[in-house]
Amino acid sequence: MGAREACGVVGAYSSRGVDVTPKILKGLEALQHRGQESWGIAVDSKPVFRKMGLAFNWYNYAQELAGYKGPSGIGHVRYSTKGRSNLDNAQPVQIGSEFSIAHNGTIVNAEQIAQAVSGVYKGKCGTDTKAAGYRLLQILREENDWFYAFERLSKELVGSYSFVILNRRGEVFAVRDPRGYRPLCLGVHQKSRTYVVASESCALSAIDAEFLRDIEPGEMVRLGGKQRGLESFRFAPKQETAYCSFEYTYFAHPSSKINGISVYGARKKVGRTLAKRHRMRGDVVIPVPDSARPAALGYSVESGIPMDEGLMKDRYRRKGSIRSFIEPRQSGREEVVKRIIPIREVIEKKEVIVVDDSVVRGTSSKIIVDSLKKAGAKKVRMVVTFPPISHPCYMGVDFPSREELLAHEVANGDNSIPTIAKKVGKAIGVEEFYYNDIDGLSQAIGLPKSSMCFACINGDYSKLGIDPGFRTKKEMKA
Ligand code: SF4
Repeated sequence: MGAREACGVVGAYSSRGVDVTPKILKGLEALQHRGQESWGIAVDSKPVFRKMGLAFNWYNYAQELAGYKGPSGIGHVRYSTKGRSNLDNAQPVQIGSEFSIAHNGTIVNAEQIAQAVSGVYKGKCGTDTKAAGYRLLQILREENDWFYAFERLSKELVGSYSFVILNRRGEVFAVRDPRGYRPLCLGVHQKSRTYVVASESCALSAIDAEFLRDIEPGEMVRLGGKQRGLESFRFAPKQETAYCSFEYTYFAHPSSKINGISVYGARKKVGRTLAKRHRMRGDVVIPVPDSARPAALGYSVESGIPMDEGLMKDRYRRKGSIRSFIEPRQSGREEVVKRIIPIREVIEKKEVIVVDDSVVRGTSSKIIVDSLKKAGAKKVRMVVTFPPISHPCYMGVDFPSREELLAHEVANGDNSIPTIAKKVGKAIGVEEFYYNDIDGLSQAIGLPKSSMCFACINGDYSKLGIDPGFRTKKEMKA
C-alpha cells in the first residue's frame, strides 16, 4: 500500500442519439478507485465540466449537469502524476475549440512536447495531457486527418497513455499506447446502440454494457464518424507489450478483466502460489483491505489455514472509505491506514498471517502491524503479493522517489529478494516476511513475463525507450 494510480477514462457514443451523460457518470463512479482527486466530463460542444473530489458527488451538481446532454462524450477521474492537484489541471482538458481530451498514463517527455507547441498554446502546459493535446492540435491542422495526425504524434510521445478524445463533430476516439502499459477496453450497450470505451471493464458492467474486447496496444478507434459506428486504425506496428503487472495485484477493480485476464482470478492465484512457496505457521489468514482480499483467500484455501476479516475499513468516516494511495500527502495516507480497524475477537492470542498487496514506503505496513499487536496478536507474519518495489514508475503510477522506497533503502546494493524481505520484515516488526517474485507473479497472472512491465521491481525501463535517470524526492515533486 502507498502507491498512487493515475486516472480512469470513459468515452461513449450512441448511434441512436441517446444521451450518454448518465452512462459516463456511472462509468466514472465505477472507476473511482483509479483516482479520487477530481473528475470531469465533456459532452457535446459544451465547456468541459470539472470538479474536485469524488465522481459520485455529481448528484450535488445535478442542476448544472442538466444542460450536459448529447449522444457522445468523455469523462475522467484523476489522480495527479504530472501537474498540481487543482481544478485547472482536472480533466478532460479543452484543446482550443477543436476537441477535449482525457488521459490515463504519463508522458515522460512532456516538457519537450510543451516546448514544441508554444506557437499554438500561449499558456503554460501544466500537465502532460495538455502538452500532448496541443501538440495533437498542431499536427491535426497540418494533416487534417485524425488517424494520421495521431500516428505522427505517437512517434514523438514517450511514455504511457490511454487517451479518450471528443472532437467538435461529436466523434469519440480511444487510443492506447503501443506497449499497452495502461488498460483500455471497448464495450457496447445494445439497447441504446452505445459504444463505450473505459479504462476497465468494471465500468462497462456498471452501465450494463457488454464487453467486446481490449483496445489493442498501438490502436486508435473512432466511435461515430461517417459510418456512425466503429472504425479501427493501427498507428504503430505490433511490438512486445508492457502491461503493468501492478494493475493485477493492486490497482484494477477485482471484477475487471484486463488483457483477457480476470483480476480477481489472478489475485486469488497469487495467494495460492504464495502459500505453496511460503507456507507459514498461523491460526488465521487476514487480508489488508481491500485489494489483498482475494489473495488472502487463495492463501487460505491452499494452506488450509482459515481466513477471517481481522482488519476492517471504517467506512463511516471519509478517510476510511478511500484507498491510501489516492491521498496526495503522506500524512493523509497514514490517516487512511489508521482508519483500518483491527477486530480484536479475530486477532487476540492468535498467530496471524497478514496478506498485503505491496510495500512502498513501509509506513502503512508498520501502522497495521502495530495495530494488530495492540489488538493482542501473539505473532504477526506477513506475505506480500507484489515483489519489492525499488524503482519509481514513469508509466502512470506515482510511486515515490527511489530514496523513499523501503526496499531500495534496505537493499543497500544487495537486491536479492530474500535479503530485502528479511530487512523489510525487521523494519516493520513482523516475525516472518515474504515477497512474491517476478516468476511467481507472471505465473499466477497467466501472462508471459515478456509481455508485462516490471520496471518498478527490476529497474528495466528498456521498453519505455529512454533511460529515465533517477530523480530525488525534491525533483519528483517539482
Ligand atoms: S513500473 Fe510498475 S507500476 Fe509502473 S507500469 Fe511498470 S509495473 Fe506498473
